[in-house]
Amino acid sequence: MNEKGISNQKLTDLLDTAKSNDVGYERVLSAMCTYPHDVAVQAHTKFIEANMGDPGLFPGTYSLEKEVINMMGQLLHCSSVHGYITTGGTESNIQALRTMVNSSNVANPNVIVPESAHFSFDKIANILGIEVKKAELDSKFKVDIGSVKSLIDSNTIGLVGIAGSTEFGQIDPINSLSDIALENNLYLHVDAAFGGFVIPFLETSYHFDFVLDGVTSIALDPHKMGFSTIPSGGILFRNREDLNHLQTHTPYLTISTQSSLTGTRSGASVAATYAVMSYLGKEGYRQIVKQCMDLTNDLVEGAKKIGINPLIEPVMNVVTLDVQDPDTLRARLRDEFGWYVSITRNPRALRLVLMPHLTHKNLDLFLQDLEKLVKIG
Ligand SMILES: *Cc1c(COP(=O)(O)O)cnc(C)c1O
Repeated sequence: MNEKGISNQKLTDLLDTAKSNDVGYERVLSAMCTYPHDVAVQAHTKFIEANMGDPGLFPGTYSLEKEVINMMGQLLHCSSVHGYITTGGTESNIQALRTMVNSSNVANPNVIVPESAHFSFDKIANILGIEVKKAELDSKFKVDIGSVKSLIDSNTIGLVGIAGSTEFGQIDPINSLSDIALENNLYLHVDAAFGGFVIPFLETSYHFDFVLDGVTSIALDPHKMGFSTIPSGGILFRNREDLNHLQTHTPYLTISTQSSLTGTRSGASVAATYAVMSYLGKEGYRQIVKQCMDLTNDLVEGAKKIGINPLIEPVMNVVTLDVQDPDTLRARLRDEFGWYVSITRNPRALRLVLMPHLTHKNLDLFLQDLEKLVKIG
């Protein structure tokens, strides 16, 4: 750090230089985040100093949080949910599994997740010191129910289902998981970090949320398809007591207990999420999701025309393409054409996320570049 501060102009130059080195989203097909909506950015700025870790000082912002949690609960078929705005899917998943652990009397607890689970569950196993067992997937990359059942033992405290898997955009059979959870008296956490703001707005309807009695908690990320600012996540519990299992005493704040993982917590994210959800309404989200699905269908059609097939017909705006040597293809797409794509773990395929920052025109360009590389080999 300098002894003397730099001028505003110099600072602006430094920041602009750094920013110009960032990749614009226009050629990014690997990200689940995108440009936040303008109303979210404005609200974020307006509430920049609000700390939800000490809500007694910010009752106005806190009331927005209660409302936005209610809005999310209603979207996911629960009229009275309990939760808060987290930093994202990782924190939401941590909290869901912490609740399972804190309410159980099992000495060596385990939780069963699909093999397609997000890597946050590996962090969770490490942090909570629990075993995270991975259930096999079926040929459509949904969790195999037989495999889940076979993994349940006397130390199992909960199950996780994914509604919108990070790699395949697939939805697990949450209804079957819900039945198993009820039969075995287990928690069922649904990781809808990506799908939570997609599935309710698709033309096809799926049962994946609190409409199923066995579902005890859901994670959904406003900073992905919710078009809020980073960091905005959501954790929702059906039962108040499950949030209470996370309580810590907070002796020197305006409140006496806290259930969040972080202490100081962004009120800006709360306001941003409230703003964009209120402004867009279901109609607005439906429109954007349709736009993303149109892009998705165009991409799949175009890929098939050049002889590349998807691993599964896309359920949401995530596409996996069966290509030879995806690692080389990924590097060449980036180095020769400036496209950012990613790769699934198992099997290794090209993974593309069709976010609203993409356009039909850019997808045509992408397909042309892809064709050049697969033809030349
Ligand atoms: C993105 C994602 C996460 C992690 O969310 P972060 O906001 O990056 O912490 C967890 N689960 C799923 C299914 C995701 O797609």
